[in-house]
Amino acid sequence: MEYKSRKTLNERLNSTALKAVLFDMDGVLFDSMRNHAAAWIQAMKRHDLPMTVKDVYMNEGRTGEGTINIFSRRCLGRDATEQEIQDIYKEKSDIFNTLPEAQPIEGAAEVLDNVRKRGLMRIIVTGSGQVSLLKRLDESYPGHFTEDTLVTAFDVKHGKPNPEPYLRGLEKAGRTIGLSSPLPASQAIVIENAPLGVQAAKAAGIYCIAVNTGPLEDQVLYDAGADIVLSGMSELADELDT
Ligand code: CA
Repeated sequence: MEYKSRKTLNERLNSTALKAVLFDMDGVLFDSMRNHAAAWIQAMKRHDLPMTVKDVYMNEGRTGEGTINIFSRRCLGRDATEQEIQDIYKEKSDIFNTLPEAQPIEGAAEVLDNVRKRGLMRIIVTGSGQVSLLKRLDESYPGHFTEDTLVTAFDVKHGKPNPEPYLRGLEKAGRTIGLSSPLPASQAIVIENAPLGVQAAKAAGIYCIAVNTGPLEDQVLYDAGADIVLSGMSELADELDT
């Protein structure tokens, strides 16, 4: 199984059909999940919605509203009100913004440079809706991304695990190379770190490499449908180098 998935990974990475790599952002390009976890746990606690670190990672990729509703139903037996959703999400964002800025993930710059050297498109598919996102990306990974190669919370109705974010990614990739239709799923790969993100990629029909940069067991990512689970971006950089 292990040998077979490695072989498939190498075939995928070296396939001449491959045109684009779709990158998730938090936990793949930035070491930001610790901060998200701390902010979620603190904000939810104020509203009597206890959340563990594992809960945060299991729900990573969901919209803020979706996450708040799941815990409201679980702990209070009802959906959160519009007001509660607004308040909790704002508090979470405020706490997040007080935390030290997340650093680039080890190995991510090497992966991006290798992908560029191979002439492949680099697309971001994130549930984040930060306004300064592109600026931040360009500071850490200069020259890799533009407005046209970014899918954010503003581009989709449904968050992960819905396939919509990755389907938008294929559309943007298609447009970038002048196709009148989305890039076929078979010509892309996804790099994800979260179970719901893996589910979204697989629901969109795309080969998915999971990099396990958080505290969850590898098996959780395989159960979500990952084609292979690597220990991090450095391991992926090594695979690309060989
Ligand atoms: Ca992520």
